[in-house]
Amino acid sequence: MIDVLIIGAGPAGLSAAIYAERAGKHAVCLEALTVGGQIVNTPEIENYPGIKKTSGFEFSMALFEQATELGAEIIYEKAARIEEKPGSDVDKSTYVVTTQSGKEFECRSVILATGAKNRHLGLAREEELLGKGISYCATCDGAFFKGKDVAVNGGGNTALEDALFLSNYCSKVYIIHRRDQFRGEPKNLEALKGKDNIEYILDSTVTELIGDDRLEKVAVKNKNTGDIKEIPVSGLFIAIGQEPDNKPFASVVELDEKGYIKANESCKTQMSGVFVAGDCRTKAVRQLTTAASDGAVAALAACEYIG
Ligand code: NAP
Repeated sequence: MIDVLIIGAGPAGLSAAIYAERAGKHAVCLEALTVGGQIVNTPEIENYPGIKKTSGFEFSMALFEQATELGAEIIYEKAARIEEKPGSDVDKSTYVVTTQSGKEFECRSVILATGAKNRHLGLAREEELLGKGISYCATCDGAFFKGKDVAVNGGGNTALEDALFLSNYCSKVYIIHRRDQFRGEPKNLEALKGKDNIEYILDSTVTELIGDDRLEKVAVKNKNTGDIKEIPVSGLFIAIGQEPDNKPFASVVELDEKGYIKANESCKTQMSGVFVAGDCRTKAVRQLTTAASDGAVAALAACEYIG
């Protein structure tokens, strides 16, 4: 019987594992993809208090080592559902988490730390051209586009940082954004001003992905004029934010209209014994620091619940 089963081994999940292990409970993280979650692809982290500068990869590896050296286990399985096994008058409920491959894990508490996944544009051929010009990760794929013209779609920090990163390799980087104001920090916009190979295409959305076997052009529509123009690019980096992936757990926890798990700063869901941490819950600020903070809060709540 596992004390604390954590679904997701990103910053929230691994922080929860560290706190659970230090509280004397055994923590197991189920991870579908990569330890570290989305932060693993961030080239530079400069806003985690106490660490002036590190990379997402280094940060993730340090978290992983810290959690596993304390005794936490990481199992690479995708959780598919949670079922409550109701307890008796004296015993609390336990939970069975079943993975996509059919494995079952019985535990005394669950922490959902599933994070969020990259939002897709929802355009025809977006999936087909993935890896053939379409990418959601400039850090991972940018080097394939050395000397080529590319576009980044989005106006948040990810899009601005991707554009800055790509401008070091690519001949030209178009930033396509649906408004004329950016959500990303002024510091990132300032850094882009020093680049002479950036071109902004504002108030515009990508409407079509064009090419035979690979992406060759994107069609872009200006929302003010209605004009559509085709821009020749070898790559389109889609950086339009994230969305949660909590549907498998909707039978045990309540989701809001956007699919985030309803919970407040206590990280408690409406089901006792099931907690939530990080980007997958309803919250105003989704940052590395708030993910780590949630991990601590959820783990200590789970340990208190177990008793
Ligand atoms: P984000 O801040 O949510 O920005 C998403 C951007 O995509 C917005 O500009 C949004 O436009 C646009 N967008 C959303 N849906 C779209 C659609 N369907 N079509 C076209 N455009 C669309 O996402 P993010 O940049 O990935 O950042 C996520 C979080 O991580 C943020 O809190 C961010 O600050 C943080 N982050 C921090 C750092 C750092 O501190 N170094 C680095 C990366 C990310 P609108 O602006 O019009 O809504």
